[in-house]
Amino acid sequence: MSQPAKICSFALSLPVYHLFDYELLEGAKAIPGMRFKLPFGRGQKMGVLVACQEQPISQHKNIKAVLTKLDEEPLLSSHLMQLACWLADYYCQPLGEVLFQFLPGKARKVEPLTETRVQIWTANPIEDEILMSIRRKAPRQYDVLLALKQSANGLNAAELRQIHEAWHQPVKILQSRGLVERTYRENLSFSKVNLQPGFKLTENQQKICSQMSLLTEQFLVHLLQGVTGSGKTEVYLELMLQVIQQGKQVIYLVPEIGLTPQLLERLQSRLGQGVVSSHSALTDLQRYQSWDQFKRGIAQVIIGTRSALFSESQNLGLIIIDEEHDASFRQQDGIRYHARDVAIKRAQMLDIPVVLGSATPSLESLHNLSKPHYRLYRLDTRVNNSKPPTIELLDCSQVPLNTGCSPQLLKAIKQHLNAQGQVLLYLNRRGFAPVVMCHECGWQSSCYQCDARMTLHQSVNKLICHHCGFSVMVPHKCPDCGVKEIRHYGVGTQQLEEFLKLQFPTVEVIRIDRDSVKSSKHFELKMKPVREGNPCILVGTQMLAKGHDYPHITLVGLLDSDQALYSSFYRASERLVQTVLQVSGRAGRAEKKGQALLQTAFPSHPLMLNLCHQSYSELVTGILQEREMVRFPPYARVVTFQVDAVELALAMQKLDQLKQILTELNTASPVKIIGPMPALMTRRIGRFRAQLSILSDNTQAIRQILQQLMPKIQGIRNTAKSRLTIDVDPLDL
Ligand SMILES: [Zn+2]
Ligand SMILES: [Zn+2]
Repeated sequence: MSQPAKICSFALSLPVYHLFDYELLEGAKAIPGMRFKLPFGRGQKMGVLVACQEQPISQHKNIKAVLTKLDEEPLLSSHLMQLACWLADYYCQPLGEVLFQFLPGKARKVEPLTETRVQIWTANPIEDEILMSIRRKAPRQYDVLLALKQSANGLNAAELRQIHEAWHQPVKILQSRGLVERTYRENLSFSKVNLQPGFKLTENQQKICSQMSLLTEQFLVHLLQGVTGSGKTEVYLELMLQVIQQGKQVIYLVPEIGLTPQLLERLQSRLGQGVVSSHSALTDLQRYQSWDQFKRGIAQVIIGTRSALFSESQNLGLIIIDEEHDASFRQQDGIRYHARDVAIKRAQMLDIPVVLGSATPSLESLHNLSKPHYRLYRLDTRVNNSKPPTIELLDCSQVPLNTGCSPQLLKAIKQHLNAQGQVLLYLNRRGFAPVVMCHECGWQSSCYQCDARMTLHQSVNKLICHHCGFSVMVPHKCPDCGVKEIRHYGVGTQQLEEFLKLQFPTVEVIRIDRDSVKSSKHFELKMKPVREGNPCILVGTQMLAKGHDYPHITLVGLLDSDQALYSSFYRASERLVQTVLQVSGRAGRAEKKGQALLQTAFPSHPLMLNLCHQSYSELVTGILQEREMVRFPPYARVVTFQVDAVELALAMQKLDQLKQILTELNTASPVKIIGPMPALMTRRIGRFRAQLSILSDNTQAIRQILQQLMPKIQGIRNTAKSRLTIDVDPLDL
């Protein structure tokens, strides 16, 4: 009889659905959530321990032994391990890749984590006699000791290096003799905070806070629908204060570009030092520090984008998701999941509340209100009682546009600037012009690796593909026929900016888009004139539509919304309504009355007409009715399988195989199979893409299908030539 061996299953960051078994050497402590260094192929990989069991060794002759343990304690609690397993299962994503998302970047490497606190050395009291003897026998130790005795709060490594280049050795000896002690100091990103009292809550805000706080200790989804300017953040702040006072922690999620230094400052000035942030603009080390301080309970609040949801917490009491309708909460590449939906799951597992806030809640959340654990609260008036502007249509079907602007719009801009107002023009297309074309032969600026046109960026004299980033210099003559006259069509934000500068030379024109804004600090800097209140024109993409507060804007113009009316994207009308209301809501926040102008060539289109006189709730009721009629989300669930391959035929063939398996499965109720068909943009970054979707209004049927399907698709999955991705609840079909 051979001894049983301890066999551990690890999740590795690989696009595979199985775990990897290794043998654990006797006596080693192993708890799920710990990281280990593992031999893999010719190298090493980091694996997260998922499960352990004893097995007769004879069954595992070829099993390798783990190399070393990287953590003394699990990095992921059993709760987060459970959440990761749920996410992997629900969204059909490989567990290893999911677990890697749960870890901060620093912890994804094959190395132990470092201390985030600063090490400090202090001197203990010492008798003069001993001190004198050290002075005689060990002058280096004496120098260090003296410096430590003279410092008020001890010295860190950098300060000790000032005393002696080789300070390590003497300190080590002094430490071993008990004369010097090492302690830690938290490395807080902000050392001083001027705490400030909040605004007095309005009666309505107060009412909502007390209604929600009665319920803070159990799982409920509180949907806060508040018009722009109604002070949702004040409600969040009040709730956060209550939760912190109970000794619990808060995760506060904001959209990708909603986290500004201004917001962070506002939170810190109200809640104190215990607010840390986590977003893509921070370095790996900074994010790790935030993660670690939140994990250890040094910070009470972590504010961040999507992935901050996976922050480890000893005592999580509340999750807040601001602008919950925002598409950036849906991760579209790598692991595909919706942070809002995973947040709701996490809250349910912990039996704590979630607050979802938006002026324009998603159709999913509004639809979910019929569920017993959902509650709706409304803030229908702005804090300062100003009215959100009504939307007026500018009929531009009969008038020539000048660089995207109708004469009526230009006239309105002039009037508002003259009245000392600020103007915001929304155009969701960056670059100078979207199309460059030869008039002679019809040549167009197509990307050589995508089915897309390259956009003209005149400032750098380049054609850039917005899908893959490929760029070329603008040709002097047509590459096909050699004619020298190449023209551009359509208007992007760069061109609009240049045009407005010529039209309104006395005011500042500020462009806000991904090309012109490099960081959130840079954004704040560019927005300075806007905050100061001088007349100016803001031109920008959806970066301007989110959460930011510009009280002096009196006119909002939306330039190119018509494309949404005829889009094949089934959420196009929902997006249009949300964007128009979010953008127009930026006008008239202070005493000055606002105006919102929507330029359209289709002024009699029903949706355009409704936008002018219906509230958001009325608008979405109509859209929801349409969705219910055609049985589309949120009345149905969708799973999309996409294959990208070196050839379209191969992608289609893989999906045909998948379809074959799908039709052979037996489910309780039928699911609709759409496809396979080439994706809307078939070629992207040199690969060909095809897709197949399944659709059902029976949630159980979809679950059943996926459970039966997953074990059977190993053969279809990844090779160098083709790659399958699964998208559960995708935003598009
Ligand atoms: Zn040509
Ligand atoms: Zn491209």
